[in-house]
Amino acid sequence: MDDCIFCKIVDGQIPSKKVYEDEDVLAFHDINPAAPIHILVIPKKHIAMLTELKEEDEMLIGKIYTTINKIAKQEGFEKQGYRVITNCGKDSGQEVMHIHFHILGGKILGDKIVG
Ligand code: 5GP
Ligand code: ZN
Repeated sequence: MDDCIFCKIVDGQIPSKKVYEDEDVLAFHDINPAAPIHILVIPKKHIAMLTELKEEDEMLIGKIYTTINKIAKQEGFEKQGYRVITNCGKDSGQEVMHIHFHILGGKILGDKIVG
């Protein structure tokens, strides 16, 4: 998508601090970290948000989660734990309309909403 900042990060027009990359998935550090560990994991394919997901994307979204597991091992925060968040739409405050999974960690995470 022409106007999408995360698509521009995927094709290198906007620089990012990459953590992981393969043919389907890219992970990079959030530019404005909300925790000591704040990594964004995105599919390279442009999908605006959760409500746009189609059945054909099921493998891809599954792969995002196994990639998160890989990143946690690679970056050494698997044992201490972390949180994964996806904002969707207006009430969530989603700002970037390219689906992304925030990995947050590196401290005790407060403001637990569920559980
Ligand atoms: P959202 O509110 O859409 O769930 O989160 C968007 C996230 O993208 C925010 O945490 C914001 O800091 C991050 N972000 C926005 N623009 C850029 C950018 O150009 N580079 C990086 N690395 N992160 C960005
Ligand atoms: Zn995009």
